[in-house]
Amino acid sequence: MTDDISELTARYTYGTWRAQRGWKPLHVTKAEGCHFWDASGKRYLDFSSQLVCSNLGHQNQAVIDAICAQAKELAFIGPSYTCDVRAKAAQKMLEVMPKGLEKFFFATSGTEANEAAIKMARLYTGKHKIIARYTSYHGSTAGSIAATGDLRRWFVEPTGKIPGVIFGPEANCYRCPLQQKQGTCGTACADYLAYMIDHEENVAAIIVEPIVGTNGVLVPPPDYLPKLAELAKKRGVLLIADEVMTGWGRTGKWFAVEHWGVTPDILTTAKGVTNAAVPLGVVATSRAIADFFDDNYFAHGHTYEAHPLTLAPAIAAINEYKRLDLIERSAKMGELLGQKLKALAAKHPSIGDVRGLGLFWAVELVKDRTTKEPFNTPQDKAARKPLVIDAVAAEMTKRGVTVLAWVSHLVIAPPLIVTEEELDE
Ligand code: PLP
Repeated sequence: MTDDISELTARYTYGTWRAQRGWKPLHVTKAEGCHFWDASGKRYLDFSSQLVCSNLGHQNQAVIDAICAQAKELAFIGPSYTCDVRAKAAQKMLEVMPKGLEKFFFATSGTEANEAAIKMARLYTGKHKIIARYTSYHGSTAGSIAATGDLRRWFVEPTGKIPGVIFGPEANCYRCPLQQKQGTCGTACADYLAYMIDHEENVAAIIVEPIVGTNGVLVPPPDYLPKLAELAKKRGVLLIADEVMTGWGRTGKWFAVEHWGVTPDILTTAKGVTNAAVPLGVVATSRAIADFFDDNYFAHGHTYEAHPLTLAPAIAAINEYKRLDLIERSAKMGELLGQKLKALAAKHPSIGDVRGLGLFWAVELVKDRTTKEPFNTPQDKAARKPLVIDAVAAEMTKRGVTVLAWVSHLVIAPPLIVTEEELDE
């Protein structure tokens, strides 16, 4: 029997979103701030905040203390009861959520938050269809993977998904799905979603990542989200903003929708809400939706919902974002990061595009800048071909910097506490 931790892990636990053969996870023994260390003592600069979730940096003391204190006071009480921390966490959310989002469902992941949001939208509207976009990720369970447009949806075909989800185009100005020219398109991609609603019956909601995350940090043009919110409202269709990745200061605002002054009917979030130290997902809903469920059955719940051990660190994390002024800092350091990445792009013909907002950036690689021909496609990834981007990320890891790699781009999203020296590194 081996006592190699990586080998034991791979033999007896499932690796996430992959065929299992060949998986040899890095054995991490310590993490602090923007760094973590492997068992050999090698240090890595964590330039994706793990899965864009450790926004406060690793081992934030206030968050850890809150978990420990709550564990000693009241580690668990079932969701039909309440305790101090449940009411206080909701109050704390009100301090930072876009105004108008007033009542919360506390789940245990981004996936579950989206699952609940879809169900709530259907119950509230009495309608069934959900419009999502092809270039998106919303989670891995039946509802949230059904609303996911990216290649992960293809893998789960045999498992069955919830019916009633239809897909439209995303706002991708580098590779416009409607072959429009940036600046002269009139945001045709938003109009297309209106066209879809008008030609479908029974549409309950549109779900979007305000800035598409894993699939390329796609920042929409300025009028896109306001237009989408307006066209949805006119048609009685709810707007669900999935801020699982973009929330908690990542883009230089508490939530990305604030960049465009849009308040969705439902906002889902997770990850940075607790600095990922414990699993918490949040569904924030409008007053109208909250009122609806006063007299209509809220057909949802989990044993672990509103778990005290997840809510205490959420309060501590929000206090830390404020104390360390990290929302401002994300905006400021993000500009610097953008400048540095653009300077790098100017020197490298294989960098086709650099885009982002706050401390949330993508570097997209291409074979040819003029034709924008990619090295690899989503089909290559689905077929499990070796990808150029994975080789780049592996080389970076070898050199002590870790980033997320997806099909043909790197996602650069360091902890919001990152220093200028670390950006230079
Ligand atoms: N939505 C978005 C935009 C995400 O990026 C993710 C995860 O990366 C999810 C939902 C799913 O969240 P979780 O992994 O916490 O279930």
